[in-house]
Amino acid sequence: MSTLQHVCSAPLARAVRSRARALSISSAVSTSSPAKQASSVDSRVLLGLSEQELQKLATDFGQQSYRGKQLHHLLYKTKAKDIQDFSHLPQAFRDGLQEAGWRVGRSPVHRVVASADGTVKILLMLEDGRLIETVGIPVEHQKGSFRLTACVSSQVGCPLRCAFCATGKGGYSRNLQPHEIVEQVLAIEEIFKHRVTNVVFMGMGEPMLNLKSVLDAHRCLNKDIEIGQRMMTISTVGVPNTIRKLASHKLQSTLAISLHAPNQELREKIVPSAKAYPLDALMADCQDYFHETGRRVSYEYTLLAGVNDGVEHAAELAAMLHGFCRGSHVNLIPFNPIEGSEFRRPYKKAVLAFAAALESRKVTVSVRQTRGLDASAACGQLRNEFQKKPLQLSTPARELGPLLT
Ligand code: SF4
Repeated sequence: MSTLQHVCSAPLARAVRSRARALSISSAVSTSSPAKQASSVDSRVLLGLSEQELQKLATDFGQQSYRGKQLHHLLYKTKAKDIQDFSHLPQAFRDGLQEAGWRVGRSPVHRVVASADGTVKILLMLEDGRLIETVGIPVEHQKGSFRLTACVSSQVGCPLRCAFCATGKGGYSRNLQPHEIVEQVLAIEEIFKHRVTNVVFMGMGEPMLNLKSVLDAHRCLNKDIEIGQRMMTISTVGVPNTIRKLASHKLQSTLAISLHAPNQELREKIVPSAKAYPLDALMADCQDYFHETGRRVSYEYTLLAGVNDGVEHAAELAAMLHGFCRGSHVNLIPFNPIEGSEFRRPYKKAVLAFAAALESRKVTVSVRQTRGLDASAACGQLRNEFQKKPLQLSTPARELGPLLT
């Protein structure tokens, strides 16, 4: 999952304005050809394959296995986008791969929008013409270290329709394939000319509804692109029977639960899908995740003025967390306004009072500074601007044109 609220509100030290200016990105970079018809799952994509799989592929084409290592380097270090750019490989091997229908699996950038605080939103146009958002969030610490967080999408749109979410309002088309998740990180590295240090699965979509692809992408990001497991966070509003499955993989990544309410009744109003997953069952699964992995569970709480931001809600939240779990942390996220939403952002005073009420009850809490308010910061907002209605799988490519420009 991801709450759009998460997307551009990563914990901050100091915004990197100078980097944003240096990027001087303000608009379109669309060199793409028109959309092709919807892609069904096609396994002949190089991006996402492990070194072993690439070695096997090379030998299947009559090459020595070290060619597979070269392929791995070209994909993940050189970041070549086209098989004909693999200049280290014999022409015959390149031609053979292409003739057999293999491709790298990188999508063209459709739009890039930078906000004054350095956050950069990228719209990628997938092979079937659908658009996904990915966000790069730079943070420069006072001691000089630099962190670049990629907030990646896991689905085209989202079927869960949380009440405050731009992505949910934009509808749902399909799950992303693993390479379509991985390529988001590579696109951010290309724009920033810097390694991505952290990945949060908090962009468009609910990761637990596409768990296999998310796990495959997680493996690739960890093993092939060499981003530490502890540097990655998987976020969810909660999908029954998936958290325990995730826990069984014993990843060293943080699980972030988009909670948004201290009780079932209020939660169902904000997160309609919560009806199928009672809060006590969700919290029991979070406990299991902590026991299986030893990793603290993080609880995301979007503060909606007058809805869930009272100190009485904070007291109820603290009591619930103490009742269920050890090793938890609450991230408070003041609502990031979206067009057409009935919700309002709370005043700073209310946010601080809520945080203080949690702290006084010994709950670890942080307040996220919202990033990129001036760049359609909420997850799904930018995509919605360019793709006004959800695209159906059956939509012929020729009908997509007006929606994509
Ligand atoms: S509608 Fe989907 S993307 Fe939006 S907050 Fe809910 S789960 Fe996340």
